[in-house]
Amino acid sequence: MTTRCDGVRTGFSLRCNASLYRCTHCGATGCTQNKPAICSNQTFDVSEKCTQCGTVGQRELIAPDKVGFFSTLMHDAQ
Ligand SMILES: [Zn+2]
Ligand SMILES: [Zn+2]
Repeated sequence: MTTRCDGVRTGFSLRCNASLYRCTHCGATGCTQNKPAICSNQTFDVSEKCTQCGTVGQRELIAPDKVGFFSTLMHDAQ
């Protein structure tokens, strides 16, 4: 489980590797870029506006321990 963005940078075919954030309003996850549509997994622009729901300022960093927690929940079925 990575806490880094695995999207692809537009025009470069490089892994994005930026920090991942979650929109606390709609639950969308992705990275933040200083320009629109830089990464295939971009969810926030420079003003912290969510590209999915349009909410501004509801961005939280997905911390490694948090990801581990959710990952554990998801694999609880076994
Ligand atoms: Zn990204
Ligand atoms: Zn949102």
